[in-house]
Amino acid sequence: LSAAEAFAIEYWPLELYKLSLKPAPRSLAGKVAFVTGGASGIGKSIVHRLAAEGAHVVVADINAEGSAKTVEEVEQKHGKGKALAVHCDVTSEQAIQNAFQQTLETYGVVDVVVSNAGIASSAPIEETSLAMWELNQKILSTGYFLVSREAFKVWRKQNVGGSLVYVASKNSVAAGKNAAAYSAAKAAELHLARCLAEEGGAAGIRVNTVLPDAVLSGSSIWDGKWRAERAATYGIAPDQLEEHYRKRTTLRVNVFPEDIAEAVKFFATSDSAKTTGGVLTVDGGVPIAYVR
Ligand code: NAD
Repeated sequence: LSAAEAFAIEYWPLELYKLSLKPAPRSLAGKVAFVTGGASGIGKSIVHRLAAEGAHVVVADINAEGSAKTVEEVEQKHGKGKALAVHCDVTSEQAIQNAFQQTLETYGVVDVVVSNAGIASSAPIEETSLAMWELNQKILSTGYFLVSREAFKVWRKQNVGGSLVYVASKNSVAAGKNAAAYSAAKAAELHLARCLAEEGGAAGIRVNTVLPDAVLSGSSIWDGKWRAERAATYGIAPDQLEEHYRKRTTLRVNVFPEDIAEAVKFFATSDSAKTTGGVLTVDGGVPIAYVR
């Protein structure tokens, strides 16, 4: 052995070991991420995850108090100026335009847009009012359309591509029991994402979708009326809902907002640089034709 070879054999593993101890570079350092529904639940976890990855984060929500709290938490952890709260009602074209405008005025660019804001509803079809049907369409499928359209406009101008990530639902592909209005609107989101992936590809705009099933977001979706409605659908007590959802999964787990945020982070970063029109299901393994 030459001295150099002997040295390499002796020290190379050590060098590798040292390398593995170095923190990985933060993949969204210097990037800007705009997250709708970032004031609570899954959206809030996404904001925290993307900020931890180095991004400046914009919390776009109708809940001013929740947005301010999320911004405060991010700034405490990552420094002043790392987060911005913007009022954004995803059913209003004007509000969305203003929210993007405010983002551009503050940070100059937008690199990642996460369309996540949503509501949950539950009722058998005979009891689903037209108003409930239309509300689901308005906030979910139309809201995702409006936010995406604005993101595309900004990205076409910036001409550097972008990553659009949808938080849709397992109900986008599976028939949710007593949730036709919600599921149909969520299915529209998924198909919209696929169409936009096709439209944006040549401009370097990637569009991918995460499909959560039941997520213990500890938010409005899980509290009060909705919890009672879901429990009634399955014929169980409201406090048995978590167990019901856990038992339904192949892995026998509950899924949390942080699990969804991790998948969103994958699509937001160059880890998924060659993926568009993609779908990542994060549900603990619920069969696609599940009976709830
Ligand atoms: P959540 O209620 O905690 O959060 C929703 C957020 O959206 C809230 O901060 C709310 O203020 C905001 N919002 C509602 N209407 C809005 C509007 N018009 N404009 C702007 N913001 C608005 O709910 P979550 O569980 O975090 O849900 C987030 C997304 O995940 C939704 O799209 C939901 O459909 C989807 N999802 C949730 C679950 C679950 O079990 N929690 C499962 C599958 C999919």
